[in-house]
Amino acid sequence: MKCNTSKPINIHLLRSWIRCRRKAWLEVYGEKQKKLWTAHSTLQLNHQIDCFHNLSQKNYGIGIQACEEGKNIAYGVRLKYPLIKNRIIKGNLPILKKTTGESIWGNFSYQPVLARQGKKIAREHRLILAMKGLLINNLQKCQVEKGLLLHKENKNIKVETIRLSEKMNNELIDSLLNLEKDIDTKTPPPITSNRKKCTICEWRKDCDAISIKEGSLSEVSGIGAKRVFLLNKIGINSIDELAKINHYKLKEKLERYGTQHSDISKKIIIQSQSKVSKKAIKLNPEKTLNNLKEAKGLYIYDIEADPDIKHDFLHGLIRLPKNIKNKISLEKTKYSPLLNLEKNTESFLWKRIAKKLSLNKDYPIIHYGETEPISLLKLGLSQGANPDEIEALKKRFIDIHLLIRENWCLPVSNYGLKSIAEWIGFEWKQTNIDGARALLWWRQWKKSRKINKMYSRNLNSIFEYNRDDCIATLMIAKWLIDHE
Ligand code: SF4
Repeated sequence: MKCNTSKPINIHLLRSWIRCRRKAWLEVYGEKQKKLWTAHSTLQLNHQIDCFHNLSQKNYGIGIQACEEGKNIAYGVRLKYPLIKNRIIKGNLPILKKTTGESIWGNFSYQPVLARQGKKIAREHRLILAMKGLLINNLQKCQVEKGLLLHKENKNIKVETIRLSEKMNNELIDSLLNLEKDIDTKTPPPITSNRKKCTICEWRKDCDAISIKEGSLSEVSGIGAKRVFLLNKIGINSIDELAKINHYKLKEKLERYGTQHSDISKKIIIQSQSKVSKKAIKLNPEKTLNNLKEAKGLYIYDIEADPDIKHDFLHGLIRLPKNIKNKISLEKTKYSPLLNLEKNTESFLWKRIAKKLSLNKDYPIIHYGETEPISLLKLGLSQGANPDEIEALKKRFIDIHLLIRENWCLPVSNYGLKSIAEWIGFEWKQTNIDGARALLWWRQWKKSRKINKMYSRNLNSIFEYNRDDCIATLMIAKWLIDHE
């Protein structure tokens, strides 16, 4: 791969670099065909449009001309300036808001605006606001003191004011210099040891393959950035080395960094042994799964949600009217998608779910992770279900994720539904699909259903995805019983 030192740095590149140094390098030199499409950038863009729409005013204009004319809002301002020596920094600023100050245009100036997703204000948001601020400073010859950060809370848009301090500007310049260093080198920076970041990254397919090939410690479930650092410090640099070490020795070495690290020494050794041997290792041979094994039948339950407005929009249920040890014919399993169009239609939804689940009150309800029981019990309580009903429902839940974690060590990098189901050989019908994509489909369908029905097929795709999530849960439960 060739290095291109004249490549300008822009906001997108800085954002990538803050998330992962390697990501920025790959954005410049990586082979674009290796990039995966993910729904996250579209979700982010839609979120930004919603947020900016909230600021819209009648008195607006486009580009620098809007600033010259003193419009309240200036859209689409493109700026560039060498904020660091010999390197052009470019910024496409979708929206600027008029504020007080003395600029080259008169007794007003402009401040940067940014939309943020996520619960907290992160370093990424502060530094990008600072970068926009410095670019505007140069244009209007007046110090930008504050930036605006918009985000959605339920259906409302909240506006936070962020002070753009000297300290923040210095941190930005340091970051730009380090980013410049990274993109001026011929080899990419290492794969991040905080692999959680990779789950939403377009480059994950390529990085995952390299990480597996290199036997990176971050491939082991339970080892995050901090533990990789500590293990490296005590001389363990690969999965192979971890798999060979004596448990007591590792425990002793990790003890000085805190019991939270030493207590899991045995677990991470077994996990790495499973990865090296590519075999499943049973943890509790004596433990039996009687309530699952002996049930006459099962319900499988999975929810799709819009986290931004805390809305569970789809409750998917499969009723399996036979014991799990029997052969399961997937074509014959009946899937019921229970839609919850608006948050205020929950009384009808609860009645439908309760009716379905009461057909076979002796059937356990299996699910993957803790979200489903929490949501369903909350729904029942809000709809006036009596305490006995809630208690009875509570006893029926079986968390397959918990059972897998308690009973098995599998040669996987994480214990998410997708990872485990794929390891046992289950395939989702739709390719490159995940919760973010289902959420995007849902939002598109909801927006278009009353206007042009452009996304009418989205709903079927969501149902198909949710049904596959239910079946994947069932297949993992069956694998557990078959390997008991
Ligand atoms: S997949 Fe992970 S390591 Fe690779 S570029 Fe993305 S965030 Fe960085």
